[in-house]
Amino acid sequence: MALQEIITRITKAEKLANRPVGSTKLIAVSKVQPNARVHEVLQQGHRLFGENKVQEAQGKWPKFRTEFPDAKVHLIGPLQTNKVKAAVALFDAIHSVDRIKLARKLASEIQAQGKPLELFIQINTGEEPQKAGALPAQADDFIAECRAMDLKVSGLMVIPPVSEEPSLHFALLAKIAARNGITGLSMGMSSDFERAVALGATHVRVGSAIFGARDYT
Ligand SMILES: *Cc1c(COP(=O)(O)O)cnc(C)c1O
Repeated sequence: MALQEIITRITKAEKLANRPVGSTKLIAVSKVQPNARVHEVLQQGHRLFGENKVQEAQGKWPKFRTEFPDAKVHLIGPLQTNKVKAAVALFDAIHSVDRIKLARKLASEIQAQGKPLELFIQINTGEEPQKAGALPAQADDFIAECRAMDLKVSGLMVIPPVSEEPSLHFALLAKIAARNGITGLSMGMSSDFERAVALGATHVRVGSAIFGARDYT
């Protein structure tokens, strides 16, 4: 069974890295997957999931949560400011805080709803123009600005460039986190989560390796 195999591989990677077993959280990325497959993984006892679109998550998670009230869902995709209110209401964490306007909106919505979420700041370590995230050179200032508006920064998040060795990007993310006193590291996907665990990932985001390929047709 795919879920168990991924958990086993994470445990093995933790041991190899001399990290405590269980120190990496597995976010099962359920975007685009058929509800039946997601339901299966819930029934197998997994409780932490990731979605990359607010609307898609709104369509399925309230229903799943009536059956599995302790299920947690993290937003791992880009967030528009006009969807912040819905996102704060729905998600337990947001991994894509990437600009000051969004941070401001989140600060006021978290206060208004009285719902403290875990927040991750996305860093564009590859400095790719099409990709979201604060640039490495601006990361320290952005983190400080978020903290100044009373946002609690739980971690940093990265999606490395597809054609580069991800470990370099994981290491850079870990370095930016360490110098800012941040402990959470959201990094690693189906193809590279073991390398992310080796470099200290606290959250890996694994989709297709658990659920199978996504069918966009
Ligand atoms: C889809 C997605 C993942 C999971 O990708 P897989 O390759 O299927 O594991 C991880 N992180 C983000 C931000 C994603 O959008």
